[in-house]
Amino acid sequence: MTQPVTEPIEYNHRWWRGAGRALLLRCPRCGQGKVFLRMMFMNSDCSHCGLEFDRGHGYWLGAMMFNMAFGMGTLIVTLVLLLWITSPDPNWDVVIIVSVGAAGIGPILFFPFSRTLWMAAERAARLKDTAESE
Ligand SMILES: [Zn+2]
Repeated sequence: MTQPVTEPIEYNHRWWRGAGRALLLRCPRCGQGKVFLRMMFMNSDCSHCGLEFDRGHGYWLGAMMFNMAFGMGTLIVTLVLLLWITSPDPNWDVVIIVSVGAAGIGPILFFPFSRTLWMAAERAARLKDTAESE
């Protein structure tokens, strides 16, 4: 069942509302439909408003960028924290294994959020200068 919402909103408002919905893994347009069936399996469209989630080849490159940035951020933060905690004599084996492990596991856990955040960001930017309603 599709149920379009017709209230126009400002760009920043749209982004923050979409980001909030993304963190709940909900549809960026209506906030009702679930984007993911399970951890790695997406619905093709929103069960509430009918928004198509996959917009074609290349659409998820932005989500990949979000996920790679998250992985790099996880690596850097983990590395700095471990060096800070274990200074002045860090155990380099533990620092490297834990940092690389966190950088490997973090993006796997962040994967669904990278996609929903990308959908929210792309949607907010795409609708910025258009009269398309929310
Ligand atoms: Zn929806």
